[in-house]
Amino acid sequence: MGISKKRKINQYKRIFAAVIAVLGVCVLTICILTTENISDMTQAAKITIIIGGCVVFGIAFIIAVILDRAAGHYECRECHHHFQPSIAAYLLGMRSPTKRYLKCPKCGKRNYCKVIFSKEHCE
Ligand SMILES: [Zn+2]
Repeated sequence: MGISKKRKINQYKRIFAAVIAVLGVCVLTICILTTENISDMTQAAKITIIIGGCVVFGIAFIIAVILDRAAGHYECRECHHHFQPSIAAYLLGMRSPTKRYLKCPKCGKRNYCKVIFSKEHCE
Protein backbone atom coordinates (compact mmCIF):
# COMPACT_ATOMS: atom_id res chain seq x y z
CA MET A 1 0.00 0.00 0.00
CA GLY A 2 1.39 3.40 -0.99
CA ILE A 3 2.01 6.28 1.37
CA SER A 4 -0.64 8.47 -0.27
CA LYS A 5 -3.25 5.74 0.16
CA LYS A 6 -2.40 5.38 3.88
CA ARG A 7 -2.65 9.14 4.24
CA LYS A 8 -6.06 9.09 2.55
CA ILE A 9 -7.32 6.32 4.86
CA ASN A 10 -6.11 8.30 7.89
CA GLN A 11 -7.91 11.39 6.60
CA TYR A 12 -11.11 9.33 6.23
CA LYS A 13 -10.64 8.06 9.80
CA ARG A 14 -10.44 11.65 11.05
CA ILE A 15 -13.53 12.73 9.06
CA PHE A 16 -15.40 9.64 10.31
CA ALA A 17 -14.33 10.48 13.89
CA ALA A 18 -15.68 14.04 13.49
CA VAL A 19 -18.99 12.75 12.04
CA ILE A 20 -19.44 10.30 14.95
CA ALA A 21 -18.72 13.08 17.47
CA VAL A 22 -21.30 15.37 15.81
CA LEU A 23 -23.89 12.54 15.75
CA GLY A 24 -23.30 11.96 19.47
CA VAL A 25 -23.93 15.63 20.21
CA CYS A 26 -27.11 15.54 18.05
CA VAL A 27 -28.49 12.47 19.86
CA LEU A 28 -27.88 14.09 23.27
CA THR A 29 -29.50 17.36 22.11
CA ILE A 30 -32.56 15.53 20.73
CA CYS A 31 -32.92 13.60 24.01
CA ILE A 32 -32.81 16.81 26.07
CA LEU A 33 -35.27 18.60 23.74
CA THR A 34 -37.64 15.61 23.83
CA THR A 35 -37.81 15.65 27.63
CA GLU A 36 -38.35 19.42 27.67
CA ASN A 37 -41.13 19.47 25.07
CA ILE A 38 -43.21 16.47 26.10
CA SER A 39 -45.13 17.49 29.21
CA ASP A 40 -47.06 14.28 29.96
CA MET A 41 -43.93 12.29 30.67
CA THR A 42 -43.01 10.87 34.03
CA GLN A 43 -39.84 12.02 35.77
CA ALA A 44 -38.43 8.50 35.53
CA ALA A 45 -38.97 8.43 31.75
CA LYS A 46 -37.25 11.80 31.37
CA ILE A 47 -34.25 10.67 33.42
CA THR A 48 -34.03 7.43 31.41
CA ILE A 49 -33.98 9.38 28.12
CA ILE A 50 -31.33 11.82 29.39
CA ILE A 51 -29.13 8.97 30.68
CA GLY A 52 -29.61 7.14 27.36
CA GLY A 53 -28.55 10.28 25.50
CA CYS A 54 -25.47 10.66 27.70
CA VAL A 55 -24.49 7.00 27.15
CA VAL A 56 -24.79 7.38 23.34
CA PHE A 57 -22.78 10.61 23.55
CA GLY A 58 -20.10 8.93 25.70
CA ILE A 59 -19.78 5.96 23.31
CA ALA A 60 -19.62 8.29 20.28
CA PHE A 61 -16.94 10.37 22.03
CA ILE A 62 -14.81 7.29 22.83
CA ILE A 63 -15.10 5.95 19.25
CA ALA A 64 -14.16 9.39 17.90
CA VAL A 65 -11.11 9.61 20.19
CA ILE A 66 -9.91 6.09 19.27
CA LEU A 67 -10.31 6.78 15.53
CA ASP A 68 -8.69 10.21 15.73
CA ARG A 69 -5.77 8.89 17.76
CA ALA A 70 -5.26 5.95 15.37
CA ALA A 71 -5.16 8.31 12.40
CA GLY A 72 -1.99 10.12 13.37
CA HIS A 73 1.44 9.78 14.87
CA TYR A 74 3.44 12.50 16.55
CA GLU A 75 6.99 13.67 16.05
CA CYS A 76 9.06 14.91 19.00
CA ARG A 77 10.61 18.28 18.22
CA GLU A 78 13.65 17.55 20.38
CA CYS A 79 14.81 14.15 19.10
CA HIS A 80 12.45 13.66 16.10
CA HIS A 81 11.25 10.35 17.49
CA HIS A 82 7.89 9.23 16.07
CA PHE A 83 5.33 7.78 18.45
CA GLN A 84 1.66 7.21 19.15
CA PRO A 85 0.53 8.60 22.53
CA SER A 86 -1.58 6.64 25.02
CA ILE A 87 -5.30 7.52 25.09
CA ALA A 88 -4.84 9.25 28.49
CA ALA A 89 -1.93 11.36 27.21
CA TYR A 90 -3.88 12.07 24.04
CA LEU A 91 -6.94 13.30 25.96
CA LEU A 92 -4.97 15.41 28.42
CA GLY A 93 -2.63 16.96 25.88
CA MET A 94 -3.46 20.49 24.80
CA ARG A 95 -3.88 20.59 21.08
CA SER A 96 -3.94 22.67 17.98
CA PRO A 97 -4.99 21.22 14.59
CA THR A 98 -1.40 20.26 13.74
CA LYS A 99 0.32 19.96 17.14
CA ARG A 100 -0.26 18.38 20.51
CA TYR A 101 1.50 18.91 23.82
CA LEU A 102 2.88 15.47 24.69
CA LYS A 103 5.73 13.80 26.55
CA CYS A 104 8.16 12.06 24.24
CA PRO A 105 8.63 8.38 25.26
CA LYS A 106 12.24 8.40 23.99
CA CYS A 107 13.83 11.56 25.43
CA GLY A 108 11.18 12.25 28.10
CA LYS A 109 10.80 15.91 27.15
CA ARG A 110 7.41 17.58 26.93
CA ASN A 111 6.85 19.66 23.84
CA TYR A 112 4.36 20.48 21.10
CA CYS A 113 4.72 17.40 18.94
CA LYS A 114 3.88 17.64 15.26
CA VAL A 115 1.08 15.45 13.88
CA ILE A 116 2.13 13.03 11.15
CA PHE A 117 -0.64 11.35 9.21
CA SER A 118 1.32 8.57 7.57
CA LYS A 119 3.32 5.83 9.24
CA GLU A 120 6.22 5.64 6.80
CA HIS A 121 8.85 6.69 9.35
CA CYS A 122 7.38 4.98 12.35
CA GLU A 123 9.35 2.59 14.52
ZN1 LIG B 1 12.01 13.17 22.08
